[in-house]
Amino acid sequence: MVVVSFRLYNTLSGLVEPFVPLHPGRVGMYTCGPTVHDRAHIGNLRTYLAEDLLRRQLEAHGLRVTQVMNITDVDDKIITKAAAARLSLAEFTQPYLDAFLRDLALLGVEAAAFHPRATEYIPQMITLIQRLIDGGHAYMSDGSVYFRISSFPDYGRLSHLDTKGLVAGASGRIDADEYEPKEAVRDFVLWKKGQQGDLAAWPSPFGWGRPGWHVECSAMSMDKLGETFDIHCGGVDNKFPHHENEIAQSEAATGKVFVTYWFHPEHLVVAGGKMAKSLGNFVTLSALLERGHDPLAVRYLLLTGAHYRHRLQFQEEWLSAAEKDVERLANFWRRCEQGLALGPAKESAGDPLAAAAQRAQGLFEAALDDDLNLPDGIAVIFDLLRDGNRLLDLGQAGRVGCEAALQALRAVDSRLGVIERLAAVEDHLTEAESALLESRAQARRDHDFARSDQLRDQLLALGIQVEDTKDGSRWHRV
Ligand code: AMP
Ligand code: ZN
Repeated sequence: MVVVSFRLYNTLSGLVEPFVPLHPGRVGMYTCGPTVHDRAHIGNLRTYLAEDLLRRQLEAHGLRVTQVMNITDVDDKIITKAAAARLSLAEFTQPYLDAFLRDLALLGVEAAAFHPRATEYIPQMITLIQRLIDGGHAYMSDGSVYFRISSFPDYGRLSHLDTKGLVAGASGRIDADEYEPKEAVRDFVLWKKGQQGDLAAWPSPFGWGRPGWHVECSAMSMDKLGETFDIHCGGVDNKFPHHENEIAQSEAATGKVFVTYWFHPEHLVVAGGKMAKSLGNFVTLSALLERGHDPLAVRYLLLTGAHYRHRLQFQEEWLSAAEKDVERLANFWRRCEQGLALGPAKESAGDPLAAAAQRAQGLFEAALDDDLNLPDGIAVIFDLLRDGNRLLDLGQAGRVGCEAALQALRAVDSRLGVIERLAAVEDHLTEAESALLESRAQARRDHDFARSDQLRDQLLALGIQVEDTKDGSRWHRV
């Protein structure tokens, strides 16, 4: 057993647990992906970002993560919209899938190893349904196939619902509203009856039809990651019934534990309500970019605005503050890089910036190891930034300190994913330019402002504008 110090909240147990992978050194992670009938909104994207943070945290612990994110490219809404547009499912869904993957890339979400599409896994779904019928866990009725919840006593374990009374009480009843010929009201559909020639219908031993949503994820995840794997993710609304049903069908079919850790990030909300396509209160990433926002600021706000298990209220104005925060982090990164290039102002092991950076890095890791507490981790890094800038202003930090600060920032950024991308936009200084900058910094420390102004003009003549901010001096090319 490999023990990592990372602790993660597991919906199944309702506890923050030490994370123990099923196989030493590697993790199988399944992410319920988008239903591609519309543009993703930033609520959806918050969930994918929380999952990206989880993946990066596992990788920071040296674990090799195989992430699978499915694409739901067949469901009622897709069929209705594709039919209205007189397009095939593939023609209709492809532009939304492309846009979704573009959004993820813009936000710096690490790419999944596999993006299985539901329509390409119909044979695996049929096999799974057949296993359930053979085992007495599913039954055919009027051309459809349903899962028999009463055959799976553990039903409700994930969402901690007491479904026993419900299932028993409803047993034998037919839900008159839906005209679904089910044995019990909670039984859910595995295969929906259809007809040859329908926009979305496949032949099967149960007749023409199409799979239900829940069975898609069970079939695709087990095909790619095995019958038992480590982590299954999705927004909180996926917990019930989607994930509860996935557990029931998978475990009933295999007799094995399906997933050991269940990860459910909370919702992005607007004015008290969940951001949802159906409510029309949603914002897309492209709309934010059109209004001039930086995708890295969007990433930053959605990741650090609240702990992933808390709801996050979205207000567009907060993006400006996020932009400033990200810029301050990138400036500190550049300043430390410049500090390295400038050579030692102080070259001692007792560099106070080195001590502060090591301490901050330790606290950051402890926060992340405690169920991904990025908001607390970031607060520690802003303390470092404030102290570090002060030490650099005073000329009390040297090369050793800058190196340690950069090491801490790199560690932070392996999870946060914004600082280096922004800092890298700026190019590097030549040695002569660096020397001029350092002379100016020294002049400022000596309160020789006439000389510092003269050096500023000299740098400007070389095309380098220097600005003095509360975070210290910064330069950029003009
Ligand atoms: P969908 O494309 O509707 O299947 O949703 C894709 C993912 O986004 C699922 O994991 C949902 O749980 C998640 N999701 C939907 N709405 C929100 C929201 N307002 N905030 C965060 N996640 C959401
Ligand atoms: Zn799913």
